[in-house]
Amino acid sequence: MEYESVIGLEIHAELNTESKMFCGCGTHFGEAPNTQTCPVCLGLPGSLPVANAKAIEYVIKSGLAVGCGINLYSIFHRKNYFYPDMPKDYQISQYDQPLCINGFIDLDMNDYQTRIGITRIHLEEDTGKLIHIGGAGRIAGAKYSLVDFNRAGVPLMEIVSEPDIRTPEEAKAYAQKLRAVLITLGVSDCSMEKGSMRVDANISIRPKGSTGLGVKTELKNLNSFRSLQRALAYEIERQAKALNEGKPEEIVQETRHWDEAKGATSTLRTKEYAHDYRYFPDPDLVPMEFDIAYIDFLRSQLPELPNERKQRFIKEYGLPVHEANLLTESKAMGDFFEETAKLYKGDPKAVANWMLGDMSYYLNTEGLEIDETAVTPKHLAELLKLIDKGVISGKIAKEIFPEMFETGKLPQVIVEEKGMTQISDEAEISKIIDMVLEENTSTVEEYRAGKDKAFGFLIGQAMRLTRGRGNPQLINRLLREKLQA
Ligand SMILES: [Zn+2]
Repeated sequence: MEYESVIGLEIHAELNTESKMFCGCGTHFGEAPNTQTCPVCLGLPGSLPVANAKAIEYVIKSGLAVGCGINLYSIFHRKNYFYPDMPKDYQISQYDQPLCINGFIDLDMNDYQTRIGITRIHLEEDTGKLIHIGGAGRIAGAKYSLVDFNRAGVPLMEIVSEPDIRTPEEAKAYAQKLRAVLITLGVSDCSMEKGSMRVDANISIRPKGSTGLGVKTELKNLNSFRSLQRALAYEIERQAKALNEGKPEEIVQETRHWDEAKGATSTLRTKEYAHDYRYFPDPDLVPMEFDIAYIDFLRSQLPELPNERKQRFIKEYGLPVHEANLLTESKAMGDFFEETAKLYKGDPKAVANWMLGDMSYYLNTEGLEIDETAVTPKHLAELLKLIDKGVISGKIAKEIFPEMFETGKLPQVIVEEKGMTQISDEAEISKIIDMVLEENTSTVEEYRAGKDKAFGFLIGQAMRLTRGRGNPQLINRLLREKLQA
């Protein structure tokens, strides 16, 4: 049986406001535990919340950026549950009147395009953080748990997608695009590592062509885009296996934990339903009412968004769609590209090729983001200029790149230190070619007999003798001249 998967993502992004959602406490990450707290975010009796206007503005801007309608009347609800990370025993969230509804994100997959609907975006407060001691950091098997309320009350935006996603690749592309939008807006730093962006995935499968919905599971602990993609692929296979073996009872509505090291999901808890939370309007907070002029004003403040930037890259720099798509996947990539192109002044496609080739390779290998390395736009621009000027060959540039990446030294410094300059002296190259011709008389005859392949071999020999430093154009020209003489 062939199956199709139905995936929806719930993405939480912490907003990078100066203060918390309902009190004046700071939101800075990494402070000593429980130092950024007050009676409101500790849920002490008698304390009253006041909503953070900046956070509301950020959510509306996010909604506008992904084509959402904005509810002109919106309220906060209490979501009741008991857990030690939530001192009030309820979380202030939104229920049936969220700030934003009905948006979308357009994805450019390699050979097709698709639109993923966004059901809603709402505003809530984050919970405290539990640190489990012993038991490999998980609650199961832990000796005791510590709680840090610094995060309790940090503004949190939840973006719920429609179940429009069909593959793990689309899920990753959607999450990445959304992240690029939020970073471009400057509303969140969206760090999956620090937990300021958290992705949960709902996944079910159904026979291809059917429109019904299977039983879904929710996947948690997806700490990177890679985890998201891997966890979904695993879960699709697990569910398909259960159905194929006639054991549908193995798929139950539940929350499953992704174990990155094991590469598998396992049951965390059975899924709760909305009515379990006994939502009711928060009587301590006034409703939010907006006028159209305010919404229009926020709309006019939106910066250039990733999809717009992609279109501009295609038009302004002549990049193919695929390259433009990759370069606008993150704001940092796009910024790096534009700065390098400006410094280099040569063909922007060369910049794109280096960024998506060697640079991406080393970034992936080291697991780094582009703004976390020693290589700056100046480095790459200088490297490209050295190639254009004929100081180094493209091959040498490829050798310089990893050293530049590791040490942050400028390319010309590395070239001088290692004596890697290209040999462009005609007399010197001429001598080398004479040697090649003498040593390879049979290949020369083959070439003269019409075997074109032989030419490439002779070029290779000349490059070998110059240890890759010979100017390729010069070698090519002189070799051709000498063979025709
Ligand atoms: Zn507080």
